[in-house]
Formats: sequence, structure tokens, C-alpha cells
Amino acid sequence: MKRLPLTIGIVGAGPAGLYFALLMKKSNPAHRITIVEQNPAHLTYGWGVVFSGRALSFLRSMDVDSYGEIEGQMQKWDDQTIIHKNEAVRIDGSVYSGIARIALLNILQRHCRRVGVEIRFEERINDLDLFSGYHLIVGADGVNSTVRAQLAEFFQPRISFLSNKYIWYGTHQLFDTLSLIFREYRNGCYVGHCYRYSDSLSTFIVECDEATWERAGFARMGEQESKAYCEEIFRADLKGHSLLSNKAAWLNFKAVVNQNWRYDNVVLLGDALRTVHFSIGSGTRMALEDAIAVYRAFEEHPEVDEALKAFEERHRPNVDRLLSIARRSYDWYENFHCKMGMDAMGLAYDYMMRSGRIDFAALKQRAPRFSASYEAWAQRTGQDKRV
Ligand SMILES: Cc1cc2nc3c(=O)[nH]c(=O)nc-3n(C[C@H](O)[C@H](O)[C@H](O)COP(=O)(O)OP(=O)(O)OC[C@H]3O[C@@H](n4cnc5c(N)ncnc54)[C@H](O)[C@@H]3O)c2cc1C
Repeated sequence: MKRLPLTIGIVGAGPAGLYFALLMKKSNPAHRITIVEQNPAHLTYGWGVVFSGRALSFLRSMDVDSYGEIEGQMQKWDDQTIIHKNEAVRIDGSVYSGIARIALLNILQRHCRRVGVEIRFEERINDLDLFSGYHLIVGADGVNSTVRAQLAEFFQPRISFLSNKYIWYGTHQLFDTLSLIFREYRNGCYVGHCYRYSDSLSTFIVECDEATWERAGFARMGEQESKAYCEEIFRADLKGHSLLSNKAAWLNFKAVVNQNWRYDNVVLLGDALRTVHFSIGSGTRMALEDAIAVYRAFEEHPEVDEALKAFEERHRPNVDRLLSIARRSYDWYENFHCKMGMDAMGLAYDYMMRSGRIDFAALKQRAPRFSASYEAWAQRTGQDKRV
């Protein structure tokens, strides 16, 4: 099939934009690809990101060089720990890996440059005129996408905000496993989502329900005050370490989906297209999978219109499946404050079953040690909730 070189303009040098650029340029060095990114090369939001299950091994077959570097910087661990009422319940059967967001971006930036992608940092796109005349325009500009907003009448986004509040910190306290720490503090309920992502750093996301947030008075606190308050809540877990703030602010998770994924020669990828709640650790993976799916569509259909159509048709079922898991997961978190009366084991079981995708037989296969502990606890306490 004859492949004509394309001019491709990408808004946003996050995982979606960078990885798509890398794959397309590798496949046809004659493509002219420009990424425009508002931030400087070494600046980003957030700390580390975690990947569950098969992690990023699917990247190996796409670009072995960047995969090798990403793999080299990943922290890996088994198991998850639920900490509640000062009791730790270990859940076996899962594999996780984590990497600093900035490390991942810097690796992808380097590999994009290696193959000849132009990346223009510190330049914000406010309209798409810069790319007028390009064959393809990619909106990979994240959750607050300008591209999506500009063409909202065609993409028809549906945007809603969850009621829980969250704030994204780092810490030098290193966690052995992916840890969910539930704490009650001054008449409020909190959960910390914690995981190590480098030899010296962990992510520490603090989440709470709206009423807790209001009672605590976070609305009136500055960055340092909020941080100090959260350090008090999780004092026992931080073990003398402080929380680290990178202009951290309390947010409500923004749930985004789009009725249409493409308009004319413009396509949305990653968080611009849809957000995946951080509790299932899949937003970055999904952004990379979007990039791969569009790239594959172009491998089969060199015409822009056909490729974008094929991308949407093929990839939508995967995205819908993940979004339904994510929805169940965030519903669980939206109500976690009502579950704080449970024992640690009861809470851990409830958490494991939150997606509704598995029954106890499947849980036994997946997490045999945890299932055995749960059975023993259920017998002892008569609080059996098995389905
Ligand atoms: C608290 C929290 C924790 C998370 N933890 C995880 C996790 O553990 N694991 C995981 O897989 N995912 C996690 N995610 C999700 C993950 O961060 C996103 O899904 C992922 O970054 C999406 O990639 P992206 O390339 O679509 O967008 P982004 O990574 O957001 O990149 C978009 C880029 O576009 C740039 N940009 C935006 N507007 C413009 C403009 N107008 N002009 C130029 N540039 C622009 C931005 O500066 C940014 O660099 C988490 C998210 C949150 C909020």
C-alpha cells in the first residue's frame, strides 16, 4: 500500500502525544511531525504513576529502545496492602510497577528527537490555526484540552466532577507495596493512595469526601497549611517523612467522555478523549494504548479519514470496558466514608469486589493467601459477604 508522507501537528507532549509521534515517525521518517507543548521540557505536574497487571510490557513490541529505558527506571512490586484501624491486610496476586511521570516523559522526548520529531516547548496553543493545512491534527492536550473545547460542538464532550476531593503529593517514605491507608482524623475520613516509584520517592494521593473537606477547612488553607494538615492525618504512615508539594491543590476528579472521537482531520487521544480514574492506575497506559491504536489504524489505512474511522471503531470497545471498571471503582471511593466502621478485613474484601467483575471463586484463584485469610476471618466473625 502506498504511504504518502503526512504533516502531523500534535498539541501536548504528554504520554499520548509523544508516543503517537514516536511510532508514526519511526514507521515513516518522511512524515513531518511537530508537537507543541506549553510546559518546559523538564517540568510536569504530579509525581509517579503506577501500572497494574501487565504494566507496560505491551510497549516492547512497539519500540524496543524506549521500552528498555522505561523498564530500566521502573520500580516493581507484588501485592497491595489495605491499612485500616491500624491493621494491615495484605492482598497477594497482583503485580505493579511505577515510574516518575517526568522520567517517562523525558525518555519519550529523547526517543522522539532521536527519530526526528520536532518538539516545541513553552508554547501554548490557543487555536488550531498554527496547524492549518496539516494532514492530521492530534489533540493530546490532557484533561483540560483546548482542542476539545474549540471543537466541542463536534466532539460533544460530557464532563462531570466527582464529589470527593483529592490532592497529589510525593514523599520520601518508601512503601513496600501499593498501599491504601484509611484514617479517621478530627471527625473526618481520609484515604491515602501510596506507592513507591523510584529509589527515593513515593506518590501519596490524599482523598476525602466533600463534607470531611469542608469540616477540615481546607478551602481556607494555603498550600503549606493543607500539606501540614495531611502530614498530621498520616503521621503514623509517613514515619517521620514529610509530604512534598509540587504546587499541589485540592481537586475534584474530572470525568470526561466524548460522543465523537474525531472531527474532519482532528482526533483526540488520552485524557483529552476520556479520563480514567486514578484508582485503577490506567490513565497513562490507556493514553499509550490510544497512541498505538491510531498508529495501527494508519498502518492499515494510509488515508486520514479512513484511519481515524478505523481507530474509533476498533478501540471504542476497549475504552468502554475500562471506563465501566473505572466507574465502579470511583463509585466505591465516593462512598468509602460510609464504610469506615468495617473491620480491616471486611473493608479489604469489599474493596477487592468493587468492580463486580469477579466472584469469590475467581478471587481465590487470583489472591489465594488473601482469600484464605478472608475465609478464616469470615468464619470467626460471622461476617461472611462472599458472592
Ligand atoms: C492524581 C492523579 C494520579 C494519577 N495516577 C496515575 C497512575 O498512577 N497511573 C496511571 O496510569 N495514570 C495515572 N493518572 C492519569 C494520568 O496522569 C493521565 O491519564 C495521563 O497523563 C494522560 O496522558 P495524556 O498524554 O493524555 O495527557 P497529559 O499527560 O495530561 O499531557 C497533556 C500535555 O498537554 C499539554 N497541554 C495542555 N494544553 C496545552 C495547550 N493548549 N498547548 C500546548 N500544550 C498543552 C500539557 O502541558 C501536558 O503536558 C493519574 C492522574 C491523576 C490526576
